[in-house]
Amino acid sequence: SEAEELREQLQNIEAADTVKEKISKEIDRLEKIPTSSAEGGVVRTYIEWLLELPWEKETMDDLDIHLAEKILDEDHYGLEKAKERVLEYLAVQKMVKVMKGPILCLAGPPGVGKTSLARSIARSLGRNFVRISLGGVRDEAEIRGHRRTYVGAMPGRIIQGMKSAGSKNPVFLLDEIDKMAMDFRGDPSSALLEVLDPNQNTTFSDHYIELPYDLSNVMFITTANAVSQIPRPLLDRMEVLTISGYTELEKEQIAKTYLYPKQLKEHGLSKEQMQIKREAMLKIIRNYTREAGVRNLERTIATLCRKAAKQLLAGNRKRIIITEKNLPQYLGAEKVRYGKAEDEDHIGVVTGLAWTEVGGDTLSIEVSVLPGKGKLMLTGKLGDVMQESAQAAFSYIRSRADFFNIAPDFHEKYDIHIHIPEGATPKDGPSAGITMVTAMVSALTDIPVSRDVAMTGEITLRGRVLPIGGLKEKSLSAHRAGIKHVLFPKENEKDLEDIPESILNDLTFTPVSHMDEVLKLAL
Ligand code: ADP
Repeated sequence: SEAEELREQLQNIEAADTVKEKISKEIDRLEKIPTSSAEGGVVRTYIEWLLELPWEKETMDDLDIHLAEKILDEDHYGLEKAKERVLEYLAVQKMVKVMKGPILCLAGPPGVGKTSLARSIARSLGRNFVRISLGGVRDEAEIRGHRRTYVGAMPGRIIQGMKSAGSKNPVFLLDEIDKMAMDFRGDPSSALLEVLDPNQNTTFSDHYIELPYDLSNVMFITTANAVSQIPRPLLDRMEVLTISGYTELEKEQIAKTYLYPKQLKEHGLSKEQMQIKREAMLKIIRNYTREAGVRNLERTIATLCRKAAKQLLAGNRKRIIITEKNLPQYLGAEKVRYGKAEDEDHIGVVTGLAWTEVGGDTLSIEVSVLPGKGKLMLTGKLGDVMQESAQAAFSYIRSRADFFNIAPDFHEKYDIHIHIPEGATPKDGPSAGITMVTAMVSALTDIPVSRDVAMTGEITLRGRVLPIGGLKEKSLSAHRAGIKHVLFPKENEKDLEDIPESILNDLTFTPVSHMDEVLKLAL
């Protein structure tokens, strides 16, 4: 009978006596319920969950640092710093034996290899790997499950993850921990705090499972796009490892040695059957994808493989060679204009550099001067900090009107409108300060701004240029946009050492400490 079958399964699982007793009791209960009743189904599902959870089952943990290093290199191009930190982290874990240390948080834009690094960590430890996404989780029950009295109750994502891991010591990736939300149904981050706390997670309680579950052997790793969005108490438990975007050269290498062979294999093609010429690959990077990571690049290569496979089968062709010329036949018209920077010098338009969750980006700041009474209008979905920064920029110009050869009473006769296009994207932060001043001065004096200059820097009321964050991501995006010259705060000079060689060779970086220097260089 069914109950006998379940009892037999119970014999074969590894679990503490308390767990086995509980399951046994539930099986007894199931026997007494008529098979046709709905309650039977609920009890059966519950028993199945308890039987399938890895209570004691674990994989042999073996860490060989040399092997780990080899695996990390095998799976990833570059990422030297990140790999080094991962290896140190693994070494410490091995020394202390019990996982009590901080939790690794891999932070960076999409498609830079965070998930894939975590996978390699699992592989090098010989542990199973599971991943759950926390993006959009806003309900505590999604972490901790619903009580069984609920219709359609289920365990939370942690227990679901453990079931698919199949062992009690997997590497467990909590993806997008910065994208969790909070609302009236409770705060998922406090439940997560319990999951990650070594003092509490030996007896993690899931509302559905009801029995305490031991998570202390799990190696949790988290990922985030924006570290600043992670709830503070969670962040305190983590050691953040930042991974930034790739340069064009790095992308070419990744595509050639990793993504292309991987996609060929997944589509059952050989190198003889489909080739992508180097110029075509560069065009994909420049004109069909515009991103900090390589996610869309990989997708685009997959698209080419798919189309090639079809052509090989449909026609009598033996090989497909993708060239710069025939690329549009496969991918359609170019999606991005490489070097989005302006075509000519404009009055009142300046390119700024911004840091966003998906990496760096260029933004064009436009200023118009209209007859009016000194009103400052701001459009383009600017955040509070950015609006204040615009006010500061405006005040600075008023205080220096003389010097700029602007009529001292300009603010009584004109309104100033600052617009930052792509208005639907929210923008914030103080780092567009010097860009806004430059655009305003250009608009008020009719002097055009060099189109191949981009800039970033906060401004004070006295015109001092203050440091900003994310210079590396910003420089990568300037390079993607075809900018030639970057003005950045002098106090950020130390960050230049993080910027890849190829970018330093292609762009001129000029440190500035005062607004006067910026204007001299840009106008
Ligand atoms: P993330 O988790 O950061 O969004 P993924 O790990 O999903 O990014 O990476 C997207 C794809 O790009 C994966 O197929 C991954 O293997 C590949 N990839 C990313 N970085 C590298 C790299 N440095 N070397 C080789 N492949 C990479």
